[in-house]
Amino acid sequence: MKQAKVRLYLEQALGEGQTIPLERDQAHYLFGVMRMAVGDPVLLFNGRDGEWRCEVSVANKRNGELVCVGMTKPLQLPPDLWLLFAPIKKARTDFIVEKAAEMGAARIVPVNTEYTNSDRIRQDRLQAHAVEAAEQCGGTYVPEVSDLQRLDKLLADWPDRRQLMFCDESEVGKPSIFDAAHGADEGGWAILIGPEGGFSDAERARLKALPFAHVVSLGPRILRADTAAVAAMTLWQKNLGDWG
Ligand code: SAM
Repeated sequence: MKQAKVRLYLEQALGEGQTIPLERDQAHYLFGVMRMAVGDPVLLFNGRDGEWRCEVSVANKRNGELVCVGMTKPLQLPPDLWLLFAPIKKARTDFIVEKAAEMGAARIVPVNTEYTNSDRIRQDRLQAHAVEAAEQCGGTYVPEVSDLQRLDKLLADWPDRRQLMFCDESEVGKPSIFDAAHGADEGGWAILIGPEGGFSDAERARLKALPFAHVVSLGPRILRADTAAVAAMTLWQKNLGDWG
């Protein structure tokens, strides 16, 4: 059987015998760029129905059609982990979203803190990065990237039972997640990473007083926010997540 060279996310439902009409840009990519022809395989997923092997049934310059042949992977949901981070420079923010999607975040939430340096994000662009990361890493799920939210408001409306891993640069060298996290809770978890300027004293005091917050050090050095996001997700996934 021919190996699929292309793996794509799309919104349409996937199932045995399902046909998928292609839009102009999808047809251009598959037939113009990737030079695929009728009968060629492609892997599709939509974040709900698992991954499917499909074959090209119609190939034109401006449109085309795929047909689903069989499921190649069931839907695999990530653990209930949110990554909250304060947006930094564009390329580093893109990096955080891409890595969070690859590493198994269920939701990505950019947050506005007192020292956040950008008060605007392009949610659609960040969501597209999460889709590309899922396409590349073989995931069958795409985390939702939220619009920018104010941290104080988010904390005020915090969901019952969700735990918060508060990565605090002022705790350098103090307890790590291994001491702070007492097992996965059914309400899920969130990781919080601050901006380049760190957290204000008022934010830190408020966060530390929250009953659901676990203050965590990420070692003896102060990490850049993008490094801290990857380090925190690694620790969480290894100890409480699906890395075994
Ligand atoms: N400007 C701050 C300072 O000099 O203290 C550093 C902020 S750091 C670049 C960005 C974020 O990464 C922090 O707010 C924190 O969430 C996280 N972080 C970095 N290093 C950390 C560490 N060693 N322990 C816990 N969190 C850390």
